[in-house]
Amino acid sequence: MWVKRGGRMAEGAHGQDVGSGALEVFWSGRTNQRLVALTFDDGPAPQWTPMVLDTLAQHRVPATFFMVGAQVRRHADVVRDRLAGHEVGNHSWDHRELAEMDAAEAYDDLRRSHDAIADLTGTSPVLLRPPYGHLGGAVLYAAARLDYRLVLWSLQMVEREFPGDPAGHAQRIVADVRPGTIVLGHNVGARRRLVALRGLTDMINGLRSRGYTFVTVSALLGAGVGPTPTG
Ligand SMILES: [Zn+2]
Repeated sequence: MWVKRGGRMAEGAHGQDVGSGALEVFWSGRTNQRLVALTFDDGPAPQWTPMVLDTLAQHRVPATFFMVGAQVRRHADVVRDRLAGHEVGNHSWDHRELAEMDAAEAYDDLRRSHDAIADLTGTSPVLLRPPYGHLGGAVLYAAARLDYRLVLWSLQMVEREFPGDPAGHAQRIVADVRPGTIVLGHNVGARRRLVALRGLTDMINGLRSRGYTFVTVSALLGAGVGPTPTG
């Protein structure tokens, strides 16, 4: 597709194919409404993803999953028909360090994952979170070419802070969320990450009692600035 559109420009002789020609990077949503976006990286995987989806469904909380393309191909059945209301973003093909690749390699990696996600959800992803949040020229170029918005995070479920204490961990997250916060979590990985996932219900209840509404990242970025909340 891009080859046709870009012709020799895509070959780099006279110019570059850079999508709409600009790229936005978000750490949080620019809003003063009490909106928060939960994000879960590195899935899908049979271990923990179903647990996260169960908890979210139970509380009717939409979330954003930054998925790894190879995992999507491998474990599509774990999430198929379970993503209604959620958003899926691209988190690379197999979690390699994109910032160390050249432009063509990074683009191929992301394109492959992009297609896997589109096949799974029926929708092309519009968000990219590169592995480790690492940005480099090749990542920026590939993201521009695929018309992505780059999404990092403003609050991390740092799982090693409260070993064996999901409630304490949840309290810390609840206290630290601000309007527009994007929370980074994982649904795959080291066992300590389970601390955060086990505290998910407490996190959801705590944030709701502070007046927060859960939205997908794209909904958060589209929210804009509303009337200033009181209290
Ligand atoms: Zn990751």
